[in-house]
Amino acid sequence: MPAVTPFSDRASFPMKKLFLAGYPLPELTELLTPLPRYRAEQIFSRISRGAASFGEMTELPKSLRSELAERFSVYSSGVSARLEDGDGTVKLQITLHDGSKIESVLLNDGKGRNTACLSTQAGCPVSCVFCKTGALAFKRSLVSAEIVEQFLFLRKTASAAAGTDESGGGGSSVSNIVVMGMGEPLLNLKELRRAIAVITAKEGLALSPRRITVSTSGIAAGIRDLAENGPPVRLALSLTTADRELRERLMPVTRTNPLEEVTAALEIYQKKENRRVTLEMVLLGGVNTRQKDVEALERFADGLDVIVNLIPWNSVEGMSFEGRALREPEKGEFAFFTGLLEKRGIPYTRRRRKGRGVGGACGQLGATD
Ligand code: SAH
Ligand code: SF4
Repeated sequence: MPAVTPFSDRASFPMKKLFLAGYPLPELTELLTPLPRYRAEQIFSRISRGAASFGEMTELPKSLRSELAERFSVYSSGVSARLEDGDGTVKLQITLHDGSKIESVLLNDGKGRNTACLSTQAGCPVSCVFCKTGALAFKRSLVSAEIVEQFLFLRKTASAAAGTDESGGGGSSVSNIVVMGMGEPLLNLKELRRAIAVITAKEGLALSPRRITVSTSGIAAGIRDLAENGPPVRLALSLTTADRELRERLMPVTRTNPLEEVTAALEIYQKKENRRVTLEMVLLGGVNTRQKDVEALERFADGLDVIVNLIPWNSVEGMSFEGRALREPEKGEFAFFTGLLEKRGIPYTRRRRKGRGVGGACGQLGATD
């Protein structure tokens, strides 16, 4: 029998604390070797059920708990502020271990269904002209732990609101995830994938990937990668307009990711996943609510299975486009746009505007203070 290195004598243990919340089970098992696999499973499952420290894991021997606490932390980040809107939306400001701040939002539909809106980057390098996050300096991409922790913090918030004990059962009080917070998820796909592996693992939270929607500004290579290598999540494209020339001015990412490439990538995704893609259209008054935009949208949607999601622009103070202040679409502009969609038989929904009271609606996430 080969000698087994006692857990405590392992020379290669990292000196810096590692954050365990972000480790998918196979990685965690490896990290904790030579602890037996069932121990890794116990720890993984307890973290998924809300344990914030090793001290809470009373099923582990005391000596192991303190040994783990010396070498690892469960979380890397913490909730630094909590804002609640009258409509039930809760925005959390989270401070990361390097002092960067991000925001995450808990949305509820009033019927007990909660959706977590997660961030993938601190700031965003894509810089769409209508988005507050894009106007911030881009700091960095988040690691898996920082993404998973947002979900765990929101879940705790939801459980507290519902008066349930989240550590009691495996069921989740948050049933859906939209990756629509700060940042461009497909520029951080590797870490997002690890985070999704944690959140969907059957030994833990067991959320179905079908209940996760990833929203992208249109990173063609990322869409292809997602289609080819999974996970099988839902996809939303922030189209804004399919008029190439206008889109290049509103979303500079279009210059390096032309719409033809995005379409080709979406076709690969739809072939593989066979699921409807959401086209998010932020409506900017007087800018992209023209007949021309609907015509371009119709051409873009041709051959794809899509549903359009209309999002009247949420105002962000001081934002302008080519010298003119951005504004919300007027009622008439909105009706004109939806009228044309209906005439052309393009299916659409209108996004409920939740969280505006706390700056927690789409495009309002900033975490500057
Ligand atoms: N970066 C990703 C996901 C985060 S943005 C993406 O762009 O898809 C999430 C959504 O908010 C996008 O559809 C974006 O177009 C929209 N959005 C950005 N700023 C907005 C604003 N001020 N009002 C309404 N929606 C906005
Ligand atoms: Fe980034 Fe999305 Fe905002 Fe564009 S809309 S700046 S991609 S977060």
